[in-house]
Amino acid sequence: QINKRLTKVSEYLNHNKLADIGSDHAYLPIYAIQNGFINKAIAGEVVKGPFLAAQHNTKIYGMTDIIEVKLGDGLEVIDDTIDVITICGMGGPLIAQIIDEGQHKLSHYPDLVLQANIHALPIRQVLQKIGYQIYDEQLIKDKKHIYEIIVAKKGEMQLDETEMKFGPILLKSKTDLFKEKWQRELESLNKIIKQLENHNDHERYHEINQQILHIKGVLK
Ligand code: SAM
Repeated sequence: QINKRLTKVSEYLNHNKLADIGSDHAYLPIYAIQNGFINKAIAGEVVKGPFLAAQHNTKIYGMTDIIEVKLGDGLEVIDDTIDVITICGMGGPLIAQIIDEGQHKLSHYPDLVLQANIHALPIRQVLQKIGYQIYDEQLIKDKKHIYEIIVAKKGEMQLDETEMKFGPILLKSKTDLFKEKWQRELESLNKIIKQLENHNDHERYHEINQQILHIKGVLK
């Protein structure tokens, strides 16, 4: 059994071949195969320890012929037989960087299921830039932390500043979890601005204040 966060991610899988980038223990591809969501997978890892853990688990589950564990940086481990890519459990800036640096590997436009621990904005920016459209978005709470899932497919989109920050689909429903996430963000920005009141950094004060007003406007 895998955690709630990865279980939610796997609900978006209905494909032939997955590449799970930053797979760590390969829990996601193993679970997705066990449940028939995919038929084959590549588990990519850039760090030796997690790579060995993924190899070990693939052996234990008798899946060495259907999950290929590869040591490599980001999307360099994929080829054009892959029809969906998952990148999970990282910050938004790192996920965006992996996509940006590997965009030449995406010329066949596999679907993307991306799960950010924090700060998803740069992910939406890079998706728009390289010709992907956001198809679904979801927030999930697991052990108090609120995670964001972004699902993207080939397509054009033009997001405005608010959609980039809050998510075009999440903005439409503004669920209780959405409000909780941004309320928390507001509280931490309020703390920062209190500290800034005693300093002379007017530029930073203004910037934080703009962020606060933006969030308040959306939560209204
Ligand atoms: N995806 C799993 C999950 O969601 O539970 C593991 C998340 S773990 C916090 C992040 C993993 O990504 C680490 O094992 C790390 O080595 C790997 N990683 C970080 N940057 C990477 C990159 N550029 N290419 C491949 N793997 C990377």
